[in-house]
Amino acid sequence: TYKVLIIPVKENLKIINCVILIKDLTYVKNMEKVKTELIANISHELKTPITSIKGFIETLLDGAFKDEEITLRFLNIIDFEIGRLYRLIVDLINLSEIESGHLKIKNEKLKLEEVFEEINLIFKKRFEEKNLEFSYKSSISEMISDRDKLMQILINLVDNAIKYTPEGGKIWIESGGQNGEVIIKVCDTGIGIPEEHIGRIFERFYRVDKARSRESGGSGLGLAIVKNLAGALGAEIKVESRLNQGTKFIITFKS
Ligand code: ADP
Repeated sequence: TYKVLIIPVKENLKIINCVILIKDLTYVKNMEKVKTELIANISHELKTPITSIKGFIETLLDGAFKDEEITLRFLNIIDFEIGRLYRLIVDLINLSEIESGHLKIKNEKLKLEEVFEEINLIFKKRFEEKNLEFSYKSSISEMISDRDKLMQILINLVDNAIKYTPEGGKIWIESGGQNGEVIIKVCDTGIGIPEEHIGRIFERFYRVDKARSRESGGSGLGLAIVKNLAGALGAEIKVESRLNQGTKFIITFKS
């Protein structure tokens, strides 16, 4: 990204050549801007739960602790906010590890039904709590990939599907193969994503509805992690969504 200019200049009546190197700093400046924005976002994400925790603790210390019912309610809120802080920090660590590019990818033979059944077991309680019907089907039985990383992708997508699907809805995973490619789809009958937001949901901390996402305790990093992990596994991820009808995340593993 250097431009080289050679221009003749006059010095003591002689013409000599002068070499000028020009470096385009646009990229560096943009990276600095991205970094500054990221730090501002992280600070904000950390500050929100801490402010809330501090407020509830101060109210308890001011005397509210004498009322057992209020104390229990406040402790539950504090517990929820600390859970959110913990998830945020774990997600930040994961994301920086993935983005560092030092991730070791295993090539394992995976039985897809086993992987999907594990997802079912991990989320069984939450499916029941929200009366969500979960199912999976696969027209291929095996694929080669990294089990832990594929699980992390599916966990994040199913976790979102649960958060953004109203009670009584459906969530399903389907997979199949085509011309040596493997396609896995995570689908829900949830609130959907407005078209104008679809291009941005994989950005760190980008949320369609800030209030709803905070309420559900999300870190805002789930899809950024999914996108990076999919890239590390040589896969592409696409979204199809219809407002109030549902969303499909489609991951295509190239052969
Ligand atoms: P969050 O912690 O906010 O869920 P994510 O990175 O996982 O962060 O998701 C980014 C945003 O994308 C969410 O805030 C939500 O607005 C939207 N989103 C993700 N998955 C779904 C889904 N299955 N249905 C509707 N909206 C979704």
